[in-house]
Amino acid sequence: MNLTNQNEIQALLARHGFRFSKSMGQNFLIADWVPRQLAEAAEVDERTGVLEIGPGLGCLTARLSERAGKVLAVELDKSLRPVLAETLEGRENVELLFGDVLKQDIPALVAEHLGGLRPVVCANLPYNVTSPVLSALLRAGCFETITVMVQREVAKRLCAKAGAPDYGAFGILVQWLSEPEILFEVPPGCFLPQPKVTSAIIRLRRRTEPPAAVRDEELLFHMIRAAFNQRRKTLPNALAAGLGIHREQAEQALQNAGFDTRIRGESVDLVGFAKICDELSKILSADL
Ligand code: SAM
Repeated sequence: MNLTNQNEIQALLARHGFRFSKSMGQNFLIADWVPRQLAEAAEVDERTGVLEIGPGLGCLTARLSERAGKVLAVELDKSLRPVLAETLEGRENVELLFGDVLKQDIPALVAEHLGGLRPVVCANLPYNVTSPVLSALLRAGCFETITVMVQREVAKRLCAKAGAPDYGAFGILVQWLSEPEILFEVPPGCFLPQPKVTSAIIRLRRRTEPPAAVRDEELLFHMIRAAFNQRRKTLPNALAAGLGIHREQAEQALQNAGFDTRIRGESVDLVGFAKICDELSKILSADL
């Protein structure tokens, strides 16, 4: 069966009485070149164990299974169980797990189902949960690469550098933990149903070392969120409001790190945040 042929897909869905769910971000691929190139971009070979989120009808799963040692595909929509049983029949290296990926213990899942293989992620992500899913995958810390389709605007945000209008807290978190790269764009006509926006394939390569040494990584992540929660405020004011500290403490940390106290978070790069964080951490522990 050709899983990207619109007529065959319609017949398959009718046979199983399947209805699309918008709330589960179901936009299935109907252009053969996309799952092929996505699987290729994920650098999958027989020593690789792939975690796929949301196999849908299985078109990407099938491509991954041709290349990988094993594919573990986690699908939220249980009504896809009989569909996937038909489309992936005979693919011995595919394991399906029905449940919400956000409720899984990802490192445990990888150890149990992909043990002995080089773990990577490859998926056409459900757009409504892109950020929490990416955050969970990155924080799990076990994937060499995460190659996923996301909305083009999100892809740009994840790669944005300090000073760019779309530079923000989530992009910094992603860039702290990985090196993201936009590979290619995918137009709306490649999906059923068609989304309103263009998509992009992005590959996040895990960093072996963080971009800068930092004493307290949790404080760094809190600080970055605080800096962008109120992005119009100066950084000391945003940090004071977001972290519940005195503005003077934040100003002191900025000065010690060599920054003007009137700057905003949007002009500070990753290394700058790490420096400010170390200074703030010293000030807060001295005041205890
Ligand atoms: N991989 C298929 C393709 O490319 O045609 C489907 C991709 S579709 C954009 C997203 C898929 O993720 C859907 O099958 C949807 O049911 C599933 N999904 C949505 N939320 C999920 C979650 N929290 N955990 C696991 N799967 C989820």
